[in-house]
Amino acid sequence: MNAVDIISDYVRFPSVSTDPAFSQGMAGAREFAAKLLADAGLRVETVQTPLHPILLGRRDGPASWPHIVLYGHYDVQPADPLALWTTPPFDPQIRNGRLYGRGAADNKGPHTIGILGLASLLRRRPDLPLRVTVLLEGEEEIGSPSFPGFLGKYKGELSKADFVLLSDTGSPSAKQIVVTTGLRGIVGLELRVKGPKVDLHSGLHGGAVFNPIQALADICASLHNADGSVNIPGFYDGVLPPAQWERDELRKFPLSEAAYRKFLGVNALYSQPGFTPLEAVRYGPTLEFNGIGGGYQGEGGKTVIPSEAFAKITCRLVPGQDASRVLKKLTAALKSRIPKGITAEIIVRQGNNPYHVIPSGRPGAPKNANPVLARAFDAVGSAIATAFGKPPLFLREGGSVPIIGDIKTETGLDSLMVGLFTPDSNLHAPNENLEIEIIERGMRAYELLLEKIATP
Ligand SMILES: [Zn+2]
Repeated sequence: MNAVDIISDYVRFPSVSTDPAFSQGMAGAREFAAKLLADAGLRVETVQTPLHPILLGRRDGPASWPHIVLYGHYDVQPADPLALWTTPPFDPQIRNGRLYGRGAADNKGPHTIGILGLASLLRRRPDLPLRVTVLLEGEEEIGSPSFPGFLGKYKGELSKADFVLLSDTGSPSAKQIVVTTGLRGIVGLELRVKGPKVDLHSGLHGGAVFNPIQALADICASLHNADGSVNIPGFYDGVLPPAQWERDELRKFPLSEAAYRKFLGVNALYSQPGFTPLEAVRYGPTLEFNGIGGGYQGEGGKTVIPSEAFAKITCRLVPGQDASRVLKKLTAALKSRIPKGITAEIIVRQGNNPYHVIPSGRPGAPKNANPVLARAFDAVGSAIATAFGKPPLFLREGGSVPIIGDIKTETGLDSLMVGLFTPDSNLHAPNENLEIEIIERGMRAYELLLEKIATP
């Protein structure tokens, strides 16, 4: 069976981790993945967790062999809204050179590419001196709640590995693959402000109380300076600015500012000191308002002074920042800006640290870096150049993959992230898909990369 058929069969299992109604789909996908691992010659272990089990596929060997961890997740996002899919999400179809189906790109396709690349390599070189632990979790799409517990139990074994290899990031197209060298972290909270105990008549009481929406707007407006920077004392402490090579690398990225502006449908891009807009997405920290509300939302008008108002705020963090420290500073700034007559409640929603690795050979790369990882960073350039016809760009990415930071903190392992989905892959959205060309070339790239890691 070819890779596209295998990924299609995998996608057929509706493994929606968030909804208990899909427990059969979860079990089906897990069994399918276990067979995939066994067919690759790996020893399979199913690790029970409080929710969805984690699969481990091992290839053992002497301690002198390099040892890589291949990470992926077999769960998927819900497929809703179903009406917007051209063909059913769990009945995969090929159209215009793409395989459509929920999970094709996030993440069944990409990790299957890695496993099949490994399987093909092991068929060709059965004695290959390489230890592998494939780790497939089933809770990535719900924030990996069982993962810290799993890491706690398995970190002894995992921390002895050399690095983690994964494909859960993106590239602009099959013509330009990106190796992701950094991820932003995130902190999120909700600010609720309260004034009078109930909504008030603005004619009877207007002028005597501080309107909570006005207070909220004042506070929110205070969080940025006129130049676009974030106005929280200490927010930028430790921020690691992009190295010159990172700025140069980004200039090779096949997207102009004008094209980006058009793609987003805005008449101007935002600017803040120290970063171009394209740089700001990958190398800069942000504070964003994700939602705001309060007062009368219905048709027509209503002369009311609302009792409360809220704003949902998240900050994307870059290497050098620490999620808990930023959260403390943000909370302190908000509290200090609550005016008299208003009380506030702050509910923390999320937080995880940024991640960063400097590829071997680049300025600032640690001298005592793991030699196997250094070799892998050297090899990934030529493997991708051979398989895709062009060397990859090494770039930090704006998004967050929380487990990468957790793995680093718990086991000390760095991650080599190869981007295999593209902007048109519609992750988490209707008509998710993966390019067939990427499936074929990706397998070849994995095979070449793993061979070079094992036998330099
Ligand atoms: Zn996802």
